Amino acid sequence: MKIAFIGLGNMGGGMAANLVKAGHTVHAFDLSAEATERATGNGCAVFPTVAEAVQGVDAVVSMLPNGKIVESLYTANVIGQAPAGALLLDCSTIDVDTARKVASAAEAAGYAMVDAPVSGGIAAANGGTLTFMVGGTAEAFARAEPILAAMGKAVIHAGASGAGQAAKICNNMILGATMIATCEAFALADKLGLDLQTFFDISSKASGQSWSMTYYCPVPGVGPQSPADNDYQGGFAAALMLKDLKLAMEAATSVGAKVPMGQRAEELYEAFAASGNGGADFSGIIRTL
Ligand code: NAD
Repeated sequence: MKIAFIGLGNMGGGMAANLVKAGHTVHAFDLSAEATERATGNGCAVFPTVAEAVQGVDAVVSMLPNGKIVESLYTANVIGQAPAGALLLDCSTIDVDTARKVASAAEAAGYAMVDAPVSGGIAAANGGTLTFMVGGTAEAFARAEPILAAMGKAVIHAGASGAGQAAKICNNMILGATMIATCEAFALADKLGLDLQTFFDISSKASGQSWSMTYYCPVPGVGPQSPADNDYQGGFAAALMLKDLKLAMEAATSVGAKVPMGQRAEELYEAFAASGNGGADFSGIIRTL
């Protein structure tokens, strides 16, 4: 297939490279020269404008920072420019309302569109092992699945338009809250004189276990290799966790849901990022405890 790929940053760069490896022709566009140079090196054909990149393609994939950019990209440069009937896939993490709004504008103009945010970081994007959670019609999902499968290990239909974004922010609200709970448990265990490796051996096999504890332990030298072992560099930036928690809080407000743990996690990550730690891995919040 011919696929336009817009937004070749930390995540999109590796994802586009995996589409090339799967045999697709990839038309790339990004505002950053560094990103387009890397895309050229990975076998993508770089275009100077979005309008040119989407000419003659079967599908458009985007991986962009936020909902405002996604909305303006699709409404100004993709809808009406990409061939009629092309499949549009937005893989960015954005708010549910914008995802639904853009998809209905696309559908009104004769395109099929899915929201397909991802779980998994830069290593999973490069390695083609992302998990995609997809919102859209059954027909659009059936068309999106083989494209997404070239970039991931799991492609799951979450429901109608916006359901992929809903699943993503609910999942990451759990992640933010469990990471903080895990960090404070280790800090308390330490003050109570427990050996932290021993606590890990117990809790990772007991009812305190979670992904944050078992696979992403926030204590250096304890559990499997994680960003804690690299001075909290790399991994999933606290600023991105904060972005996802803010999206979850906005969504909760819009539907009147009570999310006290998610709200507290958002406050704690806000303070952590504001004290100069936005670029650190999100497990680094243990240092504040
Ligand atoms: P990034 O900032 O590295 O990449 C975004 C790219 O978009 C940049 O190259 C930028 O130049 C480009 N861009 C911005 N505006 C543009 C426009 N108008 N037209 C074309 N290109 C434009 O960000 P990232 O880490 O790759 O994240 C992308 C998305 O993936 C975000 O929505 C993020 O929340 C989500 N996400 C990231 C991770 C992660 O670990 N980094 C994990 C899961 C989901």
